[in-house]
Amino acid sequence: MASSAPTPNPHIAALHAYKPGEQPQGGGWIKLNTNENPYAPSPKVAQAIQALLSEEASVLRLYPSPDSAPLREAAGRLHHFPAENIVAGNGSDDLLNLLIRAYAGPQRPVGMLEPSYSLYPVLAAAQGAPVVKVPVGLDGSFEVKAVVDSGASIFFLTSPNAPLGAALALHRVRELAAVFRGLLVVDEAYAAFADEHAADLPKQFSHVVVTRTFSKGYALAGLRVGYALCSAEVAEVLHRVRDSYNVDRVAQVAAVAALEDTAWLKSTVAKICATRTRVTSVLRDYGWQVNPSSGNFILANPVKPQLSPSVALAESAFQFLRERKILVRRFPQHPLTEKGLRITIGTDAEMDAFLVAARAWTEG
Ligand code: PMP
Repeated sequence: MASSAPTPNPHIAALHAYKPGEQPQGGGWIKLNTNENPYAPSPKVAQAIQALLSEEASVLRLYPSPDSAPLREAAGRLHHFPAENIVAGNGSDDLLNLLIRAYAGPQRPVGMLEPSYSLYPVLAAAQGAPVVKVPVGLDGSFEVKAVVDSGASIFFLTSPNAPLGAALALHRVRELAAVFRGLLVVDEAYAAFADEHAADLPKQFSHVVVTRTFSKGYALAGLRVGYALCSAEVAEVLHRVRDSYNVDRVAQVAAVAALEDTAWLKSTVAKICATRTRVTSVLRDYGWQVNPSSGNFILANPVKPQLSPSVALAESAFQFLRERKILVRRFPQHPLTEKGLRITIGTDAEMDAFLVAARAWTEG
Protein backbone atom coordinates (compact mmCIF):
# COMPACT_ATOMS: atom_id res chain seq x y z
CA MET A 1 0.00 0.00 0.00
CA ALA A 2 1.25 3.48 -0.85
CA SER A 3 0.21 5.09 2.40
CA SER A 4 -0.44 4.02 5.96
CA ALA A 5 -3.60 4.81 7.89
CA PRO A 6 -3.21 7.51 10.55
CA THR A 7 -3.24 6.35 14.17
CA PRO A 8 -6.53 6.90 15.98
CA ASN A 9 -6.89 8.87 19.22
CA PRO A 10 -4.66 7.32 21.92
CA HIS A 11 -7.59 6.03 23.99
CA ILE A 12 -9.05 4.37 20.87
CA ALA A 13 -5.66 2.85 19.96
CA ALA A 14 -5.70 1.17 23.39
CA LEU A 15 -9.33 0.01 23.14
CA HIS A 16 -10.28 -3.68 23.05
CA ALA A 17 -13.58 -4.28 21.27
CA TYR A 18 -16.44 -6.02 23.07
CA LYS A 19 -16.44 -9.73 22.26
CA PRO A 20 -19.96 -10.95 21.57
CA GLY A 21 -20.75 -14.65 21.96
CA GLU A 22 -19.93 -16.84 18.98
CA GLN A 23 -22.49 -16.82 16.14
CA PRO A 24 -21.65 -20.15 14.47
CA GLN A 25 -22.10 -20.46 10.72
CA GLY A 26 -23.83 -23.50 9.31
CA GLY A 27 -26.66 -25.48 10.85
CA GLY A 28 -26.97 -28.14 13.46
CA TRP A 29 -25.95 -26.08 16.49
CA ILE A 30 -27.93 -25.86 19.71
CA LYS A 31 -27.18 -22.25 20.47
CA LEU A 32 -27.34 -21.57 24.20
CA ASN A 33 -24.63 -18.89 24.31
CA THR A 34 -26.10 -15.43 23.63
CA ASN A 35 -29.38 -15.41 25.56
CA GLU A 36 -31.58 -15.20 22.51
CA ASN A 37 -35.21 -16.29 22.79
CA PRO A 38 -35.60 -19.78 21.26
CA TYR A 39 -39.16 -19.12 20.07
CA ALA A 40 -40.30 -17.23 16.99
CA PRO A 41 -41.57 -13.72 17.77
CA SER A 42 -45.29 -12.93 17.88
CA PRO A 43 -46.93 -13.66 14.49
CA LYS A 44 -48.20 -10.04 14.67
CA VAL A 45 -44.60 -8.97 14.04
CA ALA A 46 -44.38 -10.77 10.68
CA GLN A 47 -47.85 -9.44 9.76
CA ALA A 48 -46.81 -5.87 10.55
CA ILE A 49 -43.60 -6.19 8.51
CA GLN A 50 -45.50 -7.75 5.57
CA ALA A 51 -48.11 -4.98 5.71
CA LEU A 52 -45.34 -2.39 5.67
CA LEU A 53 -43.61 -3.98 2.69
CA SER A 54 -46.81 -4.36 0.67
CA GLU A 55 -47.68 -0.69 0.97
CA GLU A 56 -47.73 1.07 -2.35
CA ALA A 57 -44.30 2.09 -3.69
CA SER A 58 -42.52 0.54 -0.75
CA VAL A 59 -42.21 2.99 2.09
CA LEU A 60 -38.67 1.76 2.61
CA ARG A 61 -37.53 4.53 0.27
CA LEU A 62 -38.62 7.01 2.96
CA TYR A 63 -36.76 7.72 6.20
CA PRO A 64 -38.51 6.46 9.31
CA SER A 65 -39.92 8.57 12.13
CA PRO A 66 -36.72 10.24 13.37
CA ASP A 67 -37.66 9.93 17.04
CA SER A 68 -39.58 6.62 16.74
CA ALA A 69 -42.74 8.43 17.83
CA PRO A 70 -45.28 5.60 17.30
CA LEU A 71 -43.00 3.16 19.16
CA ARG A 72 -42.49 5.58 22.05
CA GLU A 73 -46.23 6.08 22.30
CA ALA A 74 -46.85 2.31 22.35
CA ALA A 75 -44.18 1.86 25.06
CA GLY A 76 -45.73 4.77 26.93
CA ARG A 77 -49.15 3.05 26.94
CA LEU A 78 -47.53 -0.09 28.32
CA HIS A 79 -45.64 1.66 31.12
CA HIS A 80 -48.12 4.51 31.73
CA PHE A 81 -45.44 7.04 30.78
CA PRO A 82 -45.73 10.01 28.41
CA ALA A 83 -43.82 9.45 25.16
CA GLU A 84 -41.58 12.41 26.07
CA ASN A 85 -40.13 10.22 28.84
CA ILE A 86 -39.08 7.49 26.41
CA VAL A 87 -36.16 7.29 23.96
CA ALA A 88 -35.89 4.44 21.45
CA GLY A 89 -32.59 2.95 20.37
CA ASN A 90 -30.93 0.54 17.96
CA GLY A 91 -30.97 -2.19 20.60
CA SER A 92 -30.50 -1.23 24.23
CA ASP A 93 -26.74 -1.21 23.54
CA ASP A 94 -27.35 1.98 21.55
CA LEU A 95 -28.98 3.57 24.61
CA LEU A 96 -26.15 2.47 26.92
CA ASN A 97 -23.72 4.07 24.47
CA LEU A 98 -25.75 7.31 24.28
CA LEU A 99 -25.95 7.49 28.07
CA ILE A 100 -22.17 7.20 28.35
CA ARG A 101 -21.65 9.67 25.51
CA ALA A 102 -23.78 12.23 27.32
CA TYR A 103 -22.85 11.63 30.96
CA ALA A 104 -19.30 10.19 31.12
CA GLY A 105 -15.85 11.51 30.20
CA PRO A 106 -12.20 11.66 31.29
CA GLN A 107 -13.17 13.33 34.60
CA ARG A 108 -16.57 11.63 34.86
CA PRO A 109 -16.21 7.92 35.73
CA VAL A 110 -18.53 5.14 34.67
CA GLY A 111 -19.57 2.83 37.51
CA MET A 112 -20.75 -0.73 37.28
CA LEU A 113 -21.33 -3.82 39.36
CA GLU A 114 -18.69 -6.51 38.92
CA PRO A 115 -19.35 -9.00 37.45
CA SER A 116 -21.97 -7.67 35.06
CA TYR A 117 -22.25 -6.69 31.40
CA SER A 118 -18.76 -6.36 29.90
CA LEU A 119 -19.89 -3.87 27.27
CA TYR A 120 -19.94 -0.97 29.78
CA PRO A 121 -16.12 -0.77 30.14
CA VAL A 122 -15.73 -0.85 26.35
CA LEU A 123 -18.15 2.06 25.91
CA ALA A 124 -16.42 3.90 28.76
CA ALA A 125 -13.00 3.38 27.16
CA ALA A 126 -14.28 4.70 23.82
CA GLN A 127 -15.35 7.84 25.69
CA GLY A 128 -12.01 8.12 27.52
CA ALA A 129 -13.83 7.65 30.84
CA PRO A 130 -12.39 5.70 33.79
CA VAL A 131 -14.40 2.76 35.16
CA VAL A 132 -15.11 2.11 38.84
CA LYS A 133 -16.38 -1.31 39.90
CA VAL A 134 -18.46 -2.29 42.90
CA PRO A 135 -18.71 -5.99 43.79
CA VAL A 136 -22.04 -7.79 43.47
CA GLY A 137 -22.78 -11.13 45.13
CA LEU A 138 -24.12 -14.27 43.48
CA ASP A 139 -27.49 -13.33 44.97
CA GLY A 140 -27.41 -9.80 43.51
CA SER A 141 -26.46 -8.12 46.80
CA PHE A 142 -24.35 -4.96 46.74
CA GLU A 143 -23.46 -2.16 49.13
CA VAL A 144 -25.38 1.04 48.54
CA LYS A 145 -22.59 2.99 50.25
CA ALA A 146 -19.97 1.53 47.90
CA VAL A 147 -21.92 2.79 44.89
CA VAL A 148 -22.31 6.25 46.45
CA ASP A 149 -18.60 6.34 47.41
CA SER A 150 -17.54 5.20 43.92
CA GLY A 151 -17.73 8.78 42.67
CA ALA A 152 -19.24 7.59 39.39
CA SER A 153 -21.03 10.19 37.27
CA ILE A 154 -23.13 7.41 35.77
CA PHE A 155 -23.63 4.00 37.39
CA PHE A 156 -25.01 0.87 35.73
CA LEU A 157 -27.02 -1.60 37.77
CA THR A 158 -27.78 -4.72 35.77
CA SER A 159 -30.98 -6.36 36.94
CA PRO A 160 -31.38 -9.24 36.47
CA ASN A 161 -27.60 -9.46 36.48
CA ALA A 162 -25.92 -11.10 33.51
CA PRO A 163 -24.13 -13.46 33.77
CA LEU A 164 -25.11 -14.24 37.40
CA GLY A 165 -28.88 -14.38 36.83
CA ALA A 166 -29.79 -12.73 40.14
CA ALA A 167 -32.23 -9.83 40.15
CA LEU A 168 -31.41 -6.87 42.40
CA ALA A 169 -33.96 -6.30 45.15
CA LEU A 170 -36.13 -3.35 44.12
CA HIS A 171 -36.04 -1.86 47.62
CA ARG A 172 -32.20 -1.74 47.40
CA VAL A 173 -32.36 0.03 44.05
CA ARG A 174 -34.85 2.52 45.50
CA GLU A 175 -32.65 3.01 48.57
CA LEU A 176 -29.70 3.74 46.28
CA ALA A 177 -31.73 6.10 44.09
CA ALA A 178 -32.57 8.16 47.18
CA VAL A 179 -28.90 8.84 47.99
CA PHE A 180 -26.87 8.52 44.76
CA ARG A 181 -26.34 11.86 43.00
CA GLY A 182 -25.10 10.74 39.57
CA LEU A 183 -27.18 9.20 36.81
CA LEU A 184 -28.39 5.75 37.88
CA VAL A 185 -29.10 3.40 34.98
CA VAL A 186 -30.94 0.15 35.63
CA ASP A 187 -30.21 -2.14 32.69
CA GLU A 188 -33.30 -4.33 32.56
CA ALA A 189 -32.55 -6.34 29.42
CA TYR A 190 -33.85 -9.48 31.19
CA ALA A 191 -36.74 -7.94 33.17
CA ALA A 192 -39.38 -9.95 31.30
CA PHE A 193 -38.21 -13.09 33.13
CA ALA A 194 -38.04 -11.55 36.62
CA ASP A 195 -40.63 -10.98 39.35
CA GLU A 196 -39.67 -7.37 40.06
CA HIS A 197 -38.59 -4.42 37.95
CA ALA A 198 -37.70 -0.76 38.39
CA ALA A 199 -39.62 0.66 35.41
CA ASP A 200 -41.64 2.99 37.64
CA LEU A 201 -38.63 4.56 39.38
CA PRO A 202 -37.94 7.19 36.69
CA LYS A 203 -41.41 8.62 37.46
CA GLN A 204 -40.20 9.43 40.95
CA PHE A 205 -36.48 10.14 40.36
CA SER A 206 -35.31 12.31 37.48
CA HIS A 207 -31.78 10.85 37.74
CA VAL A 208 -32.91 7.23 37.24
CA VAL A 209 -33.03 5.63 33.78
CA VAL A 210 -34.36 2.13 33.01
CA THR A 211 -33.31 0.47 29.75
CA ARG A 212 -35.30 -2.27 28.05
CA THR A 213 -34.74 -4.40 24.96
CA PHE A 214 -36.77 -6.33 22.40
CA SER A 215 -33.93 -8.84 22.04
CA LYS A 216 -34.83 -11.21 24.89
CA GLY A 217 -38.49 -11.41 25.96
CA TYR A 218 -39.84 -10.31 22.57
CA ALA A 219 -37.50 -12.56 20.52
CA LEU A 220 -36.35 -9.74 18.21
CA ALA A 221 -32.56 -9.71 18.73
CA GLY A 222 -32.11 -9.63 14.94
CA LEU A 223 -33.97 -6.34 14.61
CA ARG A 224 -32.01 -4.29 17.16
CA VAL A 225 -34.57 -2.29 19.16
CA GLY A 226 -34.65 -1.07 22.74
CA TYR A 227 -35.88 1.91 24.73
CA ALA A 228 -35.07 3.95 27.80
CA LEU A 229 -37.58 5.14 30.38
CA CYS A 230 -36.36 8.37 31.95
CA SER A 231 -37.17 11.92 32.98
CA ALA A 232 -38.02 14.39 30.21
CA GLU A 233 -34.71 16.19 30.98
CA VAL A 234 -32.61 13.06 30.37
CA ALA A 235 -34.69 12.17 27.29
CA GLU A 236 -34.01 15.58 25.81
CA VAL A 237 -30.25 15.08 26.32
CA LEU A 238 -30.32 11.61 24.69
CA HIS A 239 -32.25 12.95 21.70
CA ARG A 240 -29.47 15.50 21.20
CA VAL A 241 -26.72 12.88 20.97
CA ARG A 242 -28.43 10.04 19.11
CA ASP A 243 -28.30 9.42 15.35
CA SER A 244 -31.10 11.31 13.60
CA TYR A 245 -32.73 8.04 12.46
CA ASN A 246 -31.44 5.57 15.02
CA VAL A 247 -34.24 2.99 14.67
CA ASP A 248 -35.13 1.83 11.19
CA ARG A 249 -38.64 1.69 9.76
CA VAL A 250 -38.97 -2.12 9.84
CA ALA A 251 -37.78 -2.28 13.43
CA GLN A 252 -40.22 0.43 14.50
CA VAL A 253 -43.34 -1.29 13.14
CA ALA A 254 -42.18 -4.69 14.35
CA ALA A 255 -41.52 -3.40 17.85
CA VAL A 256 -44.95 -1.77 18.09
CA ALA A 257 -46.63 -5.03 17.01
CA ALA A 258 -44.55 -6.99 19.53
CA LEU A 259 -45.34 -4.59 22.39
CA GLU A 260 -49.07 -4.77 21.71
CA ASP A 261 -49.20 -8.59 21.74
CA THR A 262 -49.06 -8.88 25.51
CA ALA A 263 -50.63 -12.38 25.46
CA TRP A 264 -47.73 -13.70 23.32
CA LEU A 265 -45.16 -12.23 25.71
CA LYS A 266 -46.89 -13.66 28.75
CA SER A 267 -47.16 -17.20 27.38
CA THR A 268 -43.63 -17.27 25.90
CA VAL A 269 -42.04 -15.97 29.09
CA ALA A 270 -44.04 -18.50 31.14
CA LYS A 271 -42.76 -21.31 28.90
CA ILE A 272 -39.13 -20.19 29.23
CA CYS A 273 -39.43 -19.77 33.01
CA ALA A 274 -40.96 -23.27 33.35
CA THR A 275 -38.09 -24.72 31.32
CA ARG A 276 -35.62 -22.76 33.48
CA THR A 277 -37.11 -24.32 36.64
CA ARG A 278 -36.98 -27.82 35.15
CA VAL A 279 -33.40 -27.55 33.87
CA THR A 280 -32.24 -26.07 37.18
CA SER A 281 -33.65 -28.98 39.13
CA VAL A 282 -32.35 -31.70 36.77
CA LEU A 283 -28.83 -30.18 36.80
CA ARG A 284 -28.94 -30.05 40.61
CA ASP A 285 -29.87 -33.74 40.58
CA TYR A 286 -26.68 -34.34 38.57
CA GLY A 287 -24.77 -32.51 41.33
CA TRP A 288 -24.21 -29.27 39.35
CA GLN A 289 -24.34 -26.01 41.33
CA VAL A 290 -26.93 -23.76 39.74
CA ASN A 291 -27.35 -20.12 40.78
CA PRO A 292 -31.06 -19.18 41.05
CA SER A 293 -31.92 -17.14 37.96
CA SER A 294 -34.39 -14.40 37.10
CA GLY A 295 -33.22 -14.28 33.47
CA ASN A 296 -33.57 -16.51 30.39
CA PHE A 297 -30.29 -18.23 31.26
CA ILE A 298 -28.64 -19.95 34.18
CA LEU A 299 -25.11 -19.83 35.56
CA ALA A 300 -24.11 -23.34 36.61
CA ASN A 301 -20.89 -24.86 37.89
CA PRO A 302 -20.51 -28.31 36.32
CA VAL A 303 -19.37 -30.93 38.81
CA LYS A 304 -18.40 -34.61 38.59
CA PRO A 305 -18.92 -37.00 41.52
CA GLN A 306 -16.39 -36.45 44.37
CA LEU A 307 -14.96 -33.32 42.71
CA SER A 308 -15.42 -29.65 43.53
CA PRO A 309 -16.15 -27.02 40.89
CA SER A 310 -13.03 -25.79 39.11
CA VAL A 311 -11.96 -23.87 36.04
CA ALA A 312 -10.68 -27.13 34.55
CA LEU A 313 -14.07 -28.84 35.01
CA ALA A 314 -15.91 -25.91 33.48
CA GLU A 315 -13.54 -25.90 30.52
CA SER A 316 -13.93 -29.65 30.12
CA ALA A 317 -17.76 -29.46 30.17
CA PHE A 318 -17.69 -26.53 27.71
CA GLN A 319 -15.55 -28.49 25.23
CA PHE A 320 -17.57 -31.69 25.69
CA LEU A 321 -20.78 -29.80 24.85
CA ARG A 322 -19.13 -27.97 21.95
CA GLU A 323 -18.02 -31.26 20.39
CA ARG A 324 -21.72 -32.22 20.44
CA LYS A 325 -22.60 -28.91 18.75
CA ILE A 326 -24.07 -27.44 21.91
CA LEU A 327 -22.77 -23.93 22.46
CA VAL A 328 -22.79 -22.31 25.91
CA ARG A 329 -20.70 -19.40 27.24
CA ARG A 330 -17.74 -19.15 29.57
CA PHE A 331 -16.90 -16.10 31.71
CA PRO A 332 -13.37 -16.92 32.89
CA GLN A 333 -12.54 -13.35 34.01
CA HIS A 334 -14.17 -13.34 37.46
CA PRO A 335 -13.99 -15.65 40.51
CA LEU A 336 -17.80 -15.86 40.73
CA THR A 337 -18.13 -17.02 37.13
CA GLU A 338 -14.82 -18.72 36.19
CA LYS A 339 -15.94 -22.19 37.32
CA GLY A 340 -19.28 -21.96 35.54
CA LEU A 341 -21.12 -22.11 32.26
CA ARG A 342 -23.78 -19.62 31.32
CA ILE A 343 -26.52 -21.57 29.63
CA THR A 344 -29.31 -19.84 27.74
CA ILE A 345 -32.73 -21.45 28.21
CA GLY A 346 -33.74 -22.90 24.84
CA THR A 347 -36.80 -24.88 23.79
CA ASP A 348 -37.66 -28.01 25.80
CA ALA A 349 -36.25 -30.19 23.00
CA GLU A 350 -32.98 -28.22 22.96
CA MET A 351 -32.70 -28.42 26.73
CA ASP A 352 -33.40 -32.16 26.68
CA ALA A 353 -30.46 -32.60 24.28
CA PHE A 354 -28.34 -30.38 26.51
CA LEU A 355 -29.31 -32.37 29.62
CA VAL A 356 -28.44 -35.70 27.94
CA ALA A 357 -24.99 -34.34 27.09
CA ALA A 358 -24.55 -32.75 30.55
CA ARG A 359 -25.35 -36.09 32.17
CA ALA A 360 -22.95 -37.97 29.87
CA TRP A 361 -20.18 -35.50 30.80
CA THR A 362 -20.98 -35.77 34.53
CA GLU A 363 -20.88 -39.55 34.48
CA GLY A 364 -17.99 -39.83 32.03
N1 PMP B 1 -27.79 -5.42 28.70
C1 PMP B 1 -27.43 -6.65 29.05
C2 PMP B 1 -27.19 -6.96 30.49
C3 PMP B 1 -27.30 -7.66 28.07
O1 PMP B 1 -26.90 -8.89 28.42
C4 PMP B 1 -27.55 -7.32 26.72
C5 PMP B 1 -27.45 -8.36 25.63
N2 PMP B 1 -26.24 -8.96 25.46
C6 PMP B 1 -27.89 -6.01 26.42
C7 PMP B 1 -28.03 -5.09 27.42
C8 PMP B 1 -28.06 -5.53 25.01
O2 PMP B 1 -29.16 -5.96 24.38
P1 PMP B 1 -29.60 -5.36 22.99
O3 PMP B 1 -28.57 -4.39 22.50
O4 PMP B 1 -29.76 -6.53 22.11
O5 PMP B 1 -30.88 -4.66 23.29
